Amino acid sequence: MKVDLVIKNARVVDYRTDFMGGVAVKDGTIVMVGVNDILPDAHRVIDAEGRCLMAGVIDPHCHLGVGYPFEEDMRTETMQAARGGISSIYLYIRTKEASYIPFYKERKAAAEANVCIDFGFHFGIQREEHILEVPKIVEETGVQSFKLYFGYEPDNPIGIVPATDGWVYATMQRVAKLEKGVVSVHCENTGVASWIKKEMVASGRQDLAAYTESRPAFCEVETIKRMIFLAERTGCPLQLVHTSVGAGPDLAAEARAAGLDVTVETCPHYLIRTAYDPDLDMRAKISPPLRDEEQKEWLWRGMLAGRINSLGSDHVPFLPKKGEDLWTEFPGVVSFPWELPLLITEGYHKRGLTLSQLSAVNAYGPAKRFGITGKGALGPGSDADMVLVDLDEGREVVHTGKGTCIYEGMKLKGWPVMTISRGRVVFENGKVDEDYVGSGKCLTNPSC
Ligand SMILES: [Zn+2]
Repeated sequence: MKVDLVIKNARVVDYRTDFMGGVAVKDGTIVMVGVNDILPDAHRVIDAEGRCLMAGVIDPHCHLGVGYPFEEDMRTETMQAARGGISSIYLYIRTKEASYIPFYKERKAAAEANVCIDFGFHFGIQREEHILEVPKIVEETGVQSFKLYFGYEPDNPIGIVPATDGWVYATMQRVAKLEKGVVSVHCENTGVASWIKKEMVASGRQDLAAYTESRPAFCEVETIKRMIFLAERTGCPLQLVHTSVGAGPDLAAEARAAGLDVTVETCPHYLIRTAYDPDLDMRAKISPPLRDEEQKEWLWRGMLAGRINSLGSDHVPFLPKKGEDLWTEFPGVVSFPWELPLLITEGYHKRGLTLSQLSAVNAYGPAKRFGITGKGALGPGSDADMVLVDLDEGREVVHTGKGTCIYEGMKLKGWPVMTISRGRVVFENGKVDEDYVGSGKCLTNPSC
């Protein structure tokens, strides 16, 4: 048998394996994983020279087409993702139109023409009609993942319509009946946060920590508890997205021990930055906010103990932020190219996170949570989505793309050198191959 691609002399890592050998690929699929000696002949053979070959990163949380045109973001930002070893992304998209069906068709076609890696969608519930439309959405788009947003006051600068408990309950009732259904919730108590914000705005403070202190950790903890309660009442799988509080993974672990399907996502920024870092200002505003050292280390304890199920970047490229007023500034930062180096540096090198643990949260966890078949692990029959990493390469973060980067100048150790999406080498020698623009696949389809 002659295959298309063999990568040998690699440290092969996914959530369950870590060994020296390689992988053989034919027609975009992994056909063999094993020691060097058993790998077949191939049209292209890559000698990894001992570097680490990991399951391609699945980033289940990003927002594209918010500040820039959607088509443009799908091209530029999937290229940024490929640089970071990411081979699939899932977008949280939202519309205020009554139906998601035309919106899905338009976004899917626009994305397919521009992406160099695979992608899928989650839909935001922004009006009652969306809840009633759930069964039709599943039938006509294949999307079974829905998000509800708390914490956004009615006049928030990005126009998100905040949820009510009634919306969550009604959505969960419907989603509980689906085969792969999951409800994601942005957990922050809207009423409490709005009240404290009024007081904080009146104080005249404009520092980044004022934003954090205007929506304290307990606001998030309260809503996490309330959502777990509703998930229990309805039997609906629950994903706690962009969890910034250390109590989140503990509460979810307790819920799982009681038999509930509750999973936790956190983001690189909550593990690496705090609102009190002296080099950050209002441009590092993120929703939920960066916390403090105590919360950051608490999250790391949850990560090391295996209580966190997935990592999402919450990558959102806004037009350059103004840095003029803390309260009207857009929230959000970009991190596709550095998500993996950040976690290798701070997790693997500094805190003893194993590479399999890392792969569990950045590939297997998201695939399992959102029912992404054929992805998230390296085994025969899986899509050949992989990232080759040089664990020892040290380099500073230099941001040249869109959006706000809060890691500029940080020295990271462990960078992707090659990204492979369904057997296609999309990124190598520091460059994304533009021939692959428009060749990524939509993973949320009526047939999936
Ligand atoms: Zn988000």
